[in-house]
Amino acid sequence: PTFAEIGLPAPVVAGLARDGITVPSPIQAMAIPDAIAGRNVLGRAQTGSGKTLAFGLPMLARLAGREDRPAAKRPRALVLVPTRELAVQVVDSLLPYASTVGLKVRSAVGGMVFTKQVDQLARGVDILVATPGRLGDHLRQETCVLDEVEMIALDEADQMADMGFLPEVRSIIEQTRPDGQRLLFSATLDREVQSLVRRFLPDHVEHAT
Ligand code: AMP
Repeated sequence: PTFAEIGLPAPVVAGLARDGITVPSPIQAMAIPDAIAGRNVLGRAQTGSGKTLAFGLPMLARLAGREDRPAAKRPRALVLVPTRELAVQVVDSLLPYASTVGLKVRSAVGGMVFTKQVDQLARGVDILVATPGRLGDHLRQETCVLDEVEMIALDEADQMADMGFLPEVRSIIEQTRPDGQRLLFSATLDREVQSLVRRFLPDHVEHAT
């Protein structure tokens, strides 16, 4: 299938084409239609497989052009990543396409000035890309509220487990909407990741590349 056939908004398809991204990678071809349909998706995929767009593009498709944007402009999609570097990469990958449909992508990561992030969050965010530690700080200080989050992606879940982030990840997910959609991407599926899947991805479909 092409990106247009998969159901992405036309401005996003055009933006991808401008960057030479015209043919969905295998993980994208499998995961994006299920994610756009609202299903929970478990993706076993390595870096370089195109996994960032596999979870990011469905967020654009599901959030773009909706009239029910919350007045407080709180995030409606959340991407959790293990490191600040990966957060920067995810923002850089999604921001150009998100902007074509009027969606704001912002990050909340350690090592950046906290008050600056608070200002950014207050100005409104659609898709928030965060590391668990820094996002936990914002939640405890109530500078970020996740009650409007209806889509959450856990990227490199095995890395987050290895780094000891899963208690924070679980507490973060529990502050998002209980009926929210979950996308989990991981290169490996060890015991800790499987426990996350059992708890937070009911009725998921699994795709591997
Ligand atoms: P990722 O696996 O998400 O880290 O992506 C790896 C790289 O592949 C990034 O630089 C993307 O811009 C690029 N990429 C992702 N999807 C595609 C695609 N369908 N066609 C060509 N390049 C892609």
